Amino acid sequence: MEKILYCPLCHQGLEKVDNTYKCINKHSYDIAKKGFVNLLLANQHHSDKSGDEKIMIEARTFFLDSGKYASFREKILEVMKSVVEENGYKTFSFVDAGCGEGYYTNYIHKELSKITNISTFGVDLSKSAINYCAIRQRQEHLENELFIIGNLMYLPFKDNSVDFLLNSFAKIDETEFLRVVKKGGWYLRVLPGKTHLKGLKEAIYDNVRLNEEKEYALEGFTLVNEETFTTNITLDNKEQIKSLFMMTPYFYKSPKNGVEHLLSLDNLDTEISFNFLLYKKA
Ligand SMILES: [Zn+2]
Repeated sequence: MEKILYCPLCHQGLEKVDNTYKCINKHSYDIAKKGFVNLLLANQHHSDKSGDEKIMIEARTFFLDSGKYASFREKILEVMKSVVEENGYKTFSFVDAGCGEGYYTNYIHKELSKITNISTFGVDLSKSAINYCAIRQRQEHLENELFIIGNLMYLPFKDNSVDFLLNSFAKIDETEFLRVVKKGGWYLRVLPGKTHLKGLKEAIYDNVRLNEEKEYALEGFTLVNEETFTTNITLDNKEQIKSLFMMTPYFYKSPKNGVEHLLSLDNLDTEISFNFLLYKKA
């Protein structure tokens, strides 16, 4: 494992000693039985006690396990694989910022382990999500991978220490990403494309608005590649439709009759579309 973690309190490097991460100033962070570590300070906290969140994460896990986003996951892997191969990385530190339940993280780690000596760090604010990550990690016997409860605004990594940072869909100020990525390192930002989930939206709304394109320029980074990946998926049953719906922002703000219509369907075709923006730190 590459030693890139730092103490969230004093910013000194963290060393693993038995079942604890410790810094030189004796701040220590216990590694949970499941293998993850909590590096979230009390003042960076948010409450993660609600049963709701657990239900959301179960829905995400159920949906992702259906394999309907497998082509999207392949696409992320493809981009990362090219970076590793074209730049001849012998070692590779990878941070998945906002890793959720680890569906992408664990797979990418496993696949890239075949071509480079990869150290993977998955960070998420949600303890329930990190718990899932660690369960999957254990099931698949993945080494050189650590899951961290942490805040994306205060990443627990040293300055200029990360080769590749992935952020899929998390809305965030990227200043902190710029700090942790190495000079010449990479940042892959994945945003919903214009027609992402068009079919799902059409089942809810009378008038569907397409997603707006974001501003791509990011201070300190150079955009080196931009690509849109679009495909169609078919959801085969009510469970899949509901679980995908629960992963979207529309779950929180849709009209009741639209939702009823959506949830009455037995199957649904929808476009999915993602913008891949690959940046290099100057
Ligand atoms: Zn410390």
